Amino acid sequence: MARIAQSFLKSQLFRSIFGGKKQPIKKITPATKPAPSRMSKPAPTPPKMQAAPAAIVKSYTLQGDGLLRSFGQGDHKTFAIKNVSLGLRKNEMNLLMGPSGSGKTTLLAVLSALLRPCSGQVKALDQEIWQMSEQALEQFRLKHCSYVFQGYNLFPALTAREQLEIVLKWGEGASTREARQRSEVVLGQLGLGNKMHLRPIQLSGGEKQRVAIGRALVKNPSFLFADEPTSALDWENGQQVINLLHDVARQRGATVLVVTHDPRLLPYADNVFEMADGMLCGEQNTNDLIDLAPAHGHGMNPSAAMPFGPHAAGGHSPVFQAKVRAHSPRLQLNDPAFKN
Ligand code: ADP
Ligand code: MG
Repeated sequence: MARIAQSFLKSQLFRSIFGGKKQPIKKITPATKPAPSRMSKPAPTPPKMQAAPAAIVKSYTLQGDGLLRSFGQGDHKTFAIKNVSLGLRKNEMNLLMGPSGSGKTTLLAVLSALLRPCSGQVKALDQEIWQMSEQALEQFRLKHCSYVFQGYNLFPALTAREQLEIVLKWGEGASTREARQRSEVVLGQLGLGNKMHLRPIQLSGGEKQRVAIGRALVKNPSFLFADEPTSALDWENGQQVINLLHDVARQRGATVLVVTHDPRLLPYADNVFEMADGMLCGEQNTNDLIDLAPAHGHGMNPSAAMPFGPHAAGGHSPVFQAKVRAHSPRLQLNDPAFKN
């Protein structure tokens, strides 16, 4: 993440996503009033038990096909992702997991309209995004995509409220009054009602990440992309962020893709994609895992044997994780490009 995030922070692309420079004002479909969040409630609810019935087949809102991205030239050429194909649906929370250097951040950037692939296609809301002009891409990002990064990427000079307001003013052309009102609603839902006037330096890590999430939520995105959003947070703040990401998918109908090492996200995920060495090596629809789990534990409290829900030890269960590992098919990809 670090390399992409650092150069990204300085770029016009960054400003086009988070504001920071006046964009030509273009009215974009106004977001509706944000749905109430569980933020103010302390305890997480069991997400998997409320999942839609598996029989409902939904089409993909975001689809990558044959994606390949390299960096460098000649002897220094690195293939960060190699022939990756995957599909994501709305209302679902998808995790991208794998060791450091396996290509997760690169794949997220390619799928999220931030980094052009060397080959392959990304179809989002039935549009081939990498066929679009730069201007259309910028509009697509502004209108449909929200991003949450590990490093928060907040503007040092702006207050918490202003961080959200600029997204609405410069992204949607919202009036000062509307931007202020919507920003205050979202920050209030995030438990930051009394911190709206503070600048990043005056906020804790968890508070900064909540502001960053608020900035992602305030425009009601079709897609939310997050790269290791909980890695710099303590347990409680991490848990709040997980609940919020899950709410964005379930309550607001977004397609959520999260790069993470944090096993606490597993119980909230609909799909887990596993990467190794630039390839997708495992894909698991976790709804299937409910069927695989024993209906009752081996003489234990039934809820303790369930892989999901608040009774799972520590918010996630070793049983669940073992199932994810056991049921991740290892795909044998054979692309000549890998041999370069
Ligand atoms: P992950 O997020 O899984 O840690 P990355 O997508 O960041 O993996 O990186 C995958 C590979 O691509 C790594 O070998 C990394 O060094 C390389 N890479 C990523 N970004 C760049 C870049 N901007 N320039 C050169 N190499 C890069
Ligand atoms: Mg990364």
